[in-house]
Amino acid sequence: MRPRAQRPRLPETSARQRKARLAWNGGMTGESRPPAPVAPFEACPVTCCGTPADDQAPPGGGMVQVAGAADGADAHWYCPGRCTVLARTRAELRAVPVRPGGVR
Ligand SMILES: [Zn+2]
Repeated sequence: MRPRAQRPRLPETSARQRKARLAWNGGMTGESRPPAPVAPFEACPVTCCGTPADDQAPPGGGMVQVAGAADGADAHWYCPGRCTVLARTRAELRAVPVRPGGVR
């Protein structure tokens, strides 16, 4: 199946189609306003979060060691919760094999 951007679309040719689109958009036309400058997530306040796990001792109490990705990345210590989940997710996504076209 072709990606959504390559699928054929019906052209907007009639006045009723334009009227329906304006009604859908609440009457607004033209360029949309730029997105608000919001960080995707806030920086972690824990000082030793994300440190490399070179030595076996955790840098702080309750820190979780997350293994690196399949591409040879080093393991790191993360605080439990959001940072651990983000690191494990990133490692899992990087472990997905790359197809011959460079696409995962
Ligand atoms: Zn953290």
